[in-house]
Amino acid sequence: MRATDDRYATERDRFDLAVRMIRHEARTGTIRLCTGFTEDRIRKIYASYFPGERNTVRRRRGKTPSQIAPFVTTAQRQGEASLIAGLLVHSRVAEIDASGRSLRAVNVPPNVMGCRFCDAYEAYLYLHYRPQLSFEWAWNLLRSLVRTHELQLAWCALCDGSYVRDAYALDYERCPFCEVKDHG
Ligand SMILES: [Zn+2]
Repeated sequence: MRATDDRYATERDRFDLAVRMIRHEARTGTIRLCTGFTEDRIRKIYASYFPGERNTVRRRRGKTPSQIAPFVTTAQRQGEASLIAGLLVHSRVAEIDASGRSLRAVNVPPNVMGCRFCDAYEAYLYLHYRPQLSFEWAWNLLRSLVRTHELQLAWCALCDGSYVRDAYALDYERCPFCEVKDHG
């Protein structure tokens, strides 16, 4: 493959990724991070690929949400966050470090990471009966797991299942499912 073909293929991949992320209502800043495209370019892609869809596909602005509470306050959300965390590892967006609890980002180019993240998020939408976490909340989940480490993986003392928990809160090493059974 000639260098120009190669550049074209990469450009095409980034373009496809931008369209894919717009469909999931990713924020412009997140799309920029993964594709390297300017805000203006993303706006144009949005306008040409989703004309008249302003009511169904929303282009979100502003910052990605950044609190961890929505991932751990209810058993339902914690179950969803745990499912996404497993899919992020499965899709090789993140990997488990030597401690067996912390996740770190897999070292790949941003557009490759973006594609893998979309794979994981789409698998979540496919697997979950009634998915509640938006693309941006899933993105925030990834950040809380691999960058700020406010969230970590844990293994349930009762069923051995893995789940996501607040790294700084004490729990009884019970996954959301066993917690519900116990108190249900
Ligand atoms: Zn359990």
